[in-house]
Amino acid sequence: MYFDSLFISRSTPENIAINLAGECTCDKCNHGCKYGAGALKKGEEKKLAKFLKLKEEELKEKYLEEIELFNTKLFRPKLIREQGKPYGRCVFFDGEKGLCKVHQAKPLQCKIASGHEHGKQMHVWFVLNHFVNPDDPESIRQYAEYLKHNKTIPGGALLELIPNKIKLRKIINYEILR
Ligand code: SF4
Repeated sequence: MYFDSLFISRSTPENIAINLAGECTCDKCNHGCKYGAGALKKGEEKKLAKFLKLKEEELKEKYLEEIELFNTKLFRPKLIREQGKPYGRCVFFDGEKGLCKVHQAKPLQCKIASGHEHGKQMHVWFVLNHFVNPDDPESIRQYAEYLKHNKTIPGGALLELIPNKIKLRKIINYEILR
């Protein structure tokens, strides 16, 4: 259920998670920018808009797209997709220099993502703190499906999110819908 070597937990504070990820612009770490983009946590649009000297609405229209995971919607930078492909380069990735054009204001998921060995655990940390919503039964049901095929980190087991066993069972069995 948990990763074999534990590196981070759901309750690890954001600043520690960022420090643990470290800053890196190596090819391995930039790989994600060529085929996707990290999500902004709620409210980060403001900082990115300020950095780009745009109004928030303008930023969303020109540069962001909405994504949904575990019944939660967040924004990420638009992807420049080649025709017919579901993935593409992040709109803020400078392919020639191999650099992020919005480095100082990049999304939290980009800050904690990296190609290092703990990358998967960092991804789960972001998912648990910003996509999985213990107050939303549908979010929990979708996460329960995810857990059937994926490992998690401490704090991310179903009973850690919903400690009441009866409530959890009812959520999973659709006896509690919303
Ligand atoms: S915002 Fe920057 S770090 Fe994040 S995916 Fe785009 S180019 Fe990469």
